[in-house]
Amino acid sequence: MDISTIVIAFTAVLVLALVLFLVLRRASRTGPQPTAGMLDKTASTLGAALRRAWGPGLDDSAWDRIEEALIAADVGATSASEITAAVRRENPNDAGEARRLLAGQLKSFFGGKDRSLSLRGRPAVVLVVGVNGTGKTTTIAKLASRLIGEGRRVILAGADTFRAGAGEQLKTWAGRVGVNVVVGHEGGDPASVVYDALESARAGSDDVLIVDTAGRLHGKKNLMAELEKIHRVSGGEGGVAEVLLVLDATAGQNGLTQVSEFAKAVPLTGVVLTKLDGTARGGIVVAVERQLDIPVKFVGLGEALDDLEPFDPDSFVDELLEES
Ligand code: GDP
Repeated sequence: MDISTIVIAFTAVLVLALVLFLVLRRASRTGPQPTAGMLDKTASTLGAALRRAWGPGLDDSAWDRIEEALIAADVGATSASEITAAVRRENPNDAGEARRLLAGQLKSFFGGKDRSLSLRGRPAVVLVVGVNGTGKTTTIAKLASRLIGEGRRVILAGADTFRAGAGEQLKTWAGRVGVNVVVGHEGGDPASVVYDALESARAGSDDVLIVDTAGRLHGKKNLMAELEKIHRVSGGEGGVAEVLLVLDATAGQNGLTQVSEFAKAVPLTGVVLTKLDGTARGGIVVAVERQLDIPVKFVGLGEALDDLEPFDPDSFVDELLEES
C-alpha cells in the first residue's frame, strides 16, 4: 500500500467520523417533542412578564408590575388586584415563593367546581349557545367526536335556521364525524327542528342530542325568546342536561360583555372557551369564571376534531405561570 492510499483511507475515516458525530449530536438535541399544552403562547407571555416584574426584589413597584402583568393577561382588573393583594399578604421572601403562592391562589380560585359534562336523560340534551363566529359549530363537532370516542350514540340538531348555510355547515361536520343530523330549512321554526330531532333520537336510541342554536337574529329580543322556546321544547331545566356557552378566548374582555343576555334567557351550565391556542392572554379563563360564575368545562385548542380538551385548572395554572 503506497502512502497516498493510506492518506486517502485516513481522510475518509476522519470524514466519516465527523459526519457520524454531527448526526448523533443533532439527534440528541432533537429528542422527543414535548406534548402541546393548553397555553403555549400564554405561558411565555405571563410567565416571562412575572419574571421581569419580580426582578431582584419584592418592593412596592414589583407588586404593581405583577398586578399589571395579570391585567395584561386578561385576568380582569378586580381579580388581578385581589389576587396580588392575597399573595402579598402572605409576605413571601422571594420571587420563587411568591410564584408558588400565586399558583396556590389561582388553583384555589378554580377549585371545588364540577366541570364534568352532565349526560343525564335519554337522550341527554346538550344545548350549545353563543355569538356567531365564536366556534359553536366546530365545538359541536368536536364534542360529538369525543362522545363517540367514549362509545356513545350521538345525534345533532341544527336549530340555527336564521343564518344562511348554518344547516349545511353542521351537515358537513356531521358527515365528517359520522353522526346523524336533523336540520331545519332557512327561516323555519327552530323549536320544531329540536322536536323532530328528539323524536329521531328516541327512535334511534341515541344517548346524546347536541343542539346548535342561532347566534344572531333580527334583534336580541327575538334571539332570546327563541332560545327560551328551544330550551322549553327540549324539556326545560329538568330535561336539558347542559347549556354550554361558547366563548372566543381571543375576544378577551369584550367577549364577556356580549354574553349576559344569554345567561338571562337560558340557565347556562358550562362554558367552552375556544381559540385558546390563538391568544397570548390565557387569564381570560379567570375573568370568565369570576364574571359569569359558570365553570369552564372545555377549552378549544385548534380547528381539528380532537382539539377540544376538558379544562384542567391545575395544569392550566402551572402552564400560565411557566417562564418559557
Ligand atoms: P360559529 O359561527 O360559532 O359556528 O363558528 P365556527 O364553528 O364556524 O368557527 C369559526 C372559526 O373559528 C372557524 O374558522 C373555526 O375553524 C375556528 N375555530 C373554532 N374553534 C377554534 C379553536 O379552538 N381554535 C382555533 N384556532 N380556531 C377555532
